[in-house]
Amino acid sequence: STILVTGATGFVGTWIVKVLLERGYRVRCAVRNKGKQEYIRTLHKNNEDHLEFAEVRDISDTGAFDEAVKDVIAIIHTASPVHLTAVEPEEIITPAVNGTTGILESAIKNGSQLRRVVITSSCAAILAHSETPVTVSESDWNTGTVKECHEKGREAAPLSKYSASKVLAEKAVWDFLEEHKSKIAWDVTVLNPPWIFGPTLHDVPDFDAINPSWKQWFGAVTKGEFSGQGPESQLTRPGHGWVDVRDVAEAHVRSLEVPEAGQERIIICAGSFVWQDWVTAARSLEPPIDFCSIAKLVPGVTYRAISFDTSKEQKILSMEFRSMKEVVKDSLENYRARGWQI
Ligand code: NDP
Repeated sequence: STILVTGATGFVGTWIVKVLLERGYRVRCAVRNKGKQEYIRTLHKNNEDHLEFAEVRDISDTGAFDEAVKDVIAIIHTASPVHLTAVEPEEIITPAVNGTTGILESAIKNGSQLRRVVITSSCAAILAHSETPVTVSESDWNTGTVKECHEKGREAAPLSKYSASKVLAEKAVWDFLEEHKSKIAWDVTVLNPPWIFGPTLHDVPDFDAINPSWKQWFGAVTKGEFSGQGPESQLTRPGHGWVDVRDVAEAHVRSLEVPEAGQERIIICAGSFVWQDWVTAARSLEPPIDFCSIAKLVPGVTYRAISFDTSKEQKILSMEFRSMKEVVKDSLENYRARGWQI
């Protein structure tokens, strides 16, 4: 019973591989970087007999996954570009969309044993941001960012380019399934996590190479900064939703195992936050954190504008999410253990 994991060298993918191995699955990791492949092998040396690798150079190459999908019973597709540095929106949209339709095409062609595909989308595909109270569910789509990219091109906000890549990649999944349904013997689950925080397990050579979500979180907690701006501007403003990376991994594995998850789009969210909530949680830890600075609390109106309707997730996956306090503690300890210099 082999499971293919794409993006196996990433923040989320590495944790998914760990959970799968712990459950006794055989895991095939799709990787494009030999150094990172060896890192994963070393990380799981106790489970080496359950681990294999498939080279997939670029997810957007035609037929990139044709070999990798052979003989697997399930696929967890997390690979997608995660950065805020695209100049033209197409730089990030094209690989996200082609990677996703590409793996589905390979699945039709060579996935004769396949039963389920789990795809990591994002709450970025659901909602951009809100300053006023709003409740969102799986029926919402963040189409505004696609429009923004279409109208402004390279002048669109960096986060909008990333969000548009997630909207369009996910839309491509549902369109693909509709178009090819007569040829498909497996089903698909799409998971939509919001901002993912928590300890890192993947190969991060230095702090600069860490994921954008982690970098922003760390800047807020330790310095009260958000994207280089001062605390007054951001710490008490409404943030978005959050979830711990280990819970995201668990949700992916449950999505393979729970029949009712098939053909569903599911929000995976522990709660919503304002950035200062993380500072409050960090300040409440016992013993107190003494190995890095913790931001000062700032006065201001604090309200969590976005509520995520997680009733579908509760009904199908019944997740119990880690608390903010646990996420802060484990993440700061992870930072210390890694010895990053910033
Ligand atoms: P990472 O950047 O840590 O991991 C991305 C993974 O995808 C890496 O393994 C990377 O390979 C691979 N990848 C990216 N582009 C390509 C490409 N063109 N060809 C081959 N491989 C590629 O990101 P995360 O783990 O944080 O993200 C995983 C998924 O979760 C993504 O789909 C992301 O959109 C989604 N997500 C993330 C959130 C977050 O806060 N981090 C929030 C919500 C959703 P390599 O290691 O070689 O670079």
